[in-house]
Amino acid sequence: MIVTLDKDLEYMRKAGKLAGEIMEMLMQSAKAGISTLELDQMAEKVIRDAGAIPTFKGYRDFPGTLCVSINEEVVHGIPNKSRILKDGDLLSIDLGVTFQREENGKMLDLIADTATTVAIGSVSKMQDKLITDTRASLYAGIRASRAGATLDDIGGAVEDVGNAGAYGIVREYGGHGIGYVLHEEPFIFNYRTGSKTRLKPGMVIAIEPMFNLGGDRVRTKQDGWTVVTQDYKASAHFEHSILITEGEPEVLTKRPNEEAGWQSKA
Ligand code: MG
Repeated sequence: MIVTLDKDLEYMRKAGKLAGEIMEMLMQSAKAGISTLELDQMAEKVIRDAGAIPTFKGYRDFPGTLCVSINEEVVHGIPNKSRILKDGDLLSIDLGVTFQREENGKMLDLIADTATTVAIGSVSKMQDKLITDTRASLYAGIRASRAGATLDDIGGAVEDVGNAGAYGIVREYGGHGIGYVLHEEPFIFNYRTGSKTRLKPGMVIAIEPMFNLGGDRVRTKQDGWTVVTQDYKASAHFEHSILITEGEPEVLTKRPNEEAGWQSKA
């Protein structure tokens, strides 16, 4: 977790804005009949055309620009040309964008990370509610992200939404500090752990709840990447990178058409 320099913050805002715009484009493009590799290539082109770098590509040898995880896949699914979206699928898209700036002959990375789950065509009421509630838990986590609040305030806010819907809350993965590298300290749990770590203005963190329709247990498949639910029930995943301020947090990866559902209602 870092307190960024003003000029670095500008780069992170740029990365976040681009990530939000690409996410919106992908949500509109994600239809039955399209492959997950097509979505991946679309995103990579926009990132490179903007002079940015796909953060995930090559990260620990991950082959894609996006993580694309369908139905029982929770996170880290690999884009594939033979994986064709079909009506009734739940598609989770995870995206990282890096802008670089030079300092004393060295390149510094400034990174933003975001994820969204979308329904392909018509899905069941339960699946639809899973998406809505997982998104609501992210927004609750963002709302709790105030200077002076603890990491437990975030985890607790997410956990309460998960428990109200009786979802399995994934424990092995969670949010993280972000900025110069993709995953910085601290790990941000999506449930209460008793953490007393306090948020300070200038910190940038990614909050990313994952809720399952079944149990909370997950495992990694043979490909070494794709994480699936143990019981093969569907999963949803939402993520934003946010800046802690003196007031409401700034959501760096907000999509252009996204309603600011994290703002406190008057
Ligand atoms: Mg993340």
